[in-house]
Amino acid sequence: MTQPPATRLCVSIVRNNPSLEQQVARAVAQGAEIIELRVDRIEDAAAVERLLHGPRRVPFILTIRSAAEGGGWDGDDAERIALYERFGLLMPGFVDIELATLERSANLRQKVGLIAHMPNCPAGETGQAVSSESASRVRNTLIVSMHDYRTTPDDLSVVLNRLIDSGASIIKAAFTPDDARDALRILTQLARVAPHRPAIVIGMGESGVATRILARKFGAFLSFATVEAGQTSAPGQLTLHEMQGVYRWFSIDRSTRVFGLVGWPTSHSRSPQIHNAAMAQCGINAIYLPFPVRAGYESFAQFMQNVNENPHLDIDGLSVTIPHKENAYRWLKEQGGSCSALAERCRAVNTLRKSGGTWTGNNTDAIAMTAILSSAISGVSAAAGRRVRILVLGAGGVARAAVAAAKEQGADIAICNRTPERAATLAGDFGGALIRWEQRAEAVADVLIQCTSVGMWPGAEECPMPGDALPSVACVVETIYNPRTTRLLRVAAQRGCRTVDGAELFIRQAEAQFEYWHGQRPPEGLMRCVLEESDGVRP
Ligand code: NAP
Repeated sequence: MTQPPATRLCVSIVRNNPSLEQQVARAVAQGAEIIELRVDRIEDAAAVERLLHGPRRVPFILTIRSAAEGGGWDGDDAERIALYERFGLLMPGFVDIELATLERSANLRQKVGLIAHMPNCPAGETGQAVSSESASRVRNTLIVSMHDYRTTPDDLSVVLNRLIDSGASIIKAAFTPDDARDALRILTQLARVAPHRPAIVIGMGESGVATRILARKFGAFLSFATVEAGQTSAPGQLTLHEMQGVYRWFSIDRSTRVFGLVGWPTSHSRSPQIHNAAMAQCGINAIYLPFPVRAGYESFAQFMQNVNENPHLDIDGLSVTIPHKENAYRWLKEQGGSCSALAERCRAVNTLRKSGGTWTGNNTDAIAMTAILSSAISGVSAAAGRRVRILVLGAGGVARAAVAAAKEQGADIAICNRTPERAATLAGDFGGALIRWEQRAEAVADVLIQCTSVGMWPGAEECPMPGDALPSVACVVETIYNPRTTRLLRVAAQRGCRTVDGAELFIRQAEAQFEYWHGQRPPEGLMRCVLEESDGVRP
């Protein structure tokens, strides 16, 4: 059986400067296999005509998108259809027109039929005679589309079936997912439709990123990308560089397994960069994607239900971040799934793995923190002849992992948090002294583990210590990794403390995740190297 053609990468051109020819050349040089001409935005009919008369390296999609569906055309239908006809006769290759426009009148359908194949809409439908010349002309392929910039409707299959019934050679539907739960519904519909009818089914915006990348796994006709960030024709488009570099577009096929990050938000994370690079290096046919899921247990549980009900999505492993680590633990327990002893102690799961149809959980933050502490305190207890004293600043998810790790090391623990009740709960769960937030600068310990979010980008100039004071400690372990060197770490280094930055925790927990999923260590130093490279392009 012949394989259907692989999903193409398409770039939309939405302006006329630099010249259309230059923009096409640049997009093609970067990997675009098809170019959409958004005539409604280019607003230069002569330039479009010149381009279509010129030499071709890739096919074009001719689109004059109506304002009603997010485009720039707010003129009347007759003028728009005349433009379609004028450019369509120059044979761009594909013509995209909205279902709503086609449904408006038989006359419109007849006109579109002159430039594109419309199997369900014979050109004689209106009773008008069709010239033998136009009847015999090789026509463009028709894409019938619909765009919803507000939501992803519940009845997705009904919407897609209407597009199929239009007789379009290719159907296109673009929705706005509220979060990754909608993105999974969109992917499920793409998987249903694509084997029978060439289809483009997209989730726009940040929550739809997975639909743009997994378009290739599920055999979409194309997926859109941009040449430069910020020059998108619809929200959420990635650059060609991201699609091919970070998300390894050309290595995705139908058997590619899926991993990803569940959190809210997820766009700041560097996990896709490091996991995808490591899987590529190890020759693992898998992809790692962001799955933003709104806060709340119900949202998380519903996302996991979507995952479980659609095994063809091949989602085999998930990183879990803020605000879902406790939700992941609770969900796993409700499913009767098991988790590691450390995750059990933290009552939080940051890694989920599916094998043999069942999910298990782990807490690789705690694994990583244990390794970091073991090296940070080596020698301290022997030299001092007493137990190591660890001060944990914060009482959130990471602080919980830090306290569990400190407990593993047999240290004396003190907890200090802005909200004292949370500190008391943590101390109650693990044991440990409490230090009042106002007295944090006067504390005495061997190691300070900074687990608050104070000092994280964009608040990089903030410090969790008042007036850059520092408790009496020998070593400061930071958990924030954006920026790499926080204000607290700068202050600690100036005072002669040993410092460990947040990248250490980030890399070590990701390495442990990788091993948990794939049964092998990632190449030594690779994740660190990729993180450092991506530091250069981060905000
Ligand atoms: P979390 O559960 O939301 O906890 C946030 C902590 O920060 C709480 O203790 C909170 O205190 C405290 N906090 C927030 N704003 C504060 C302020 N203005 N003043 C004082 N305290 C404040 O978050 P988390 O998951 O523990 O994450 C904490 C930090 O760790 C984040 O910055 C995150 O970037 C970092 N992190 C790093 C890694 C890594 O791999 N390196 C992994 C996960 C997280 P209250 O209880 O008073 O609200």
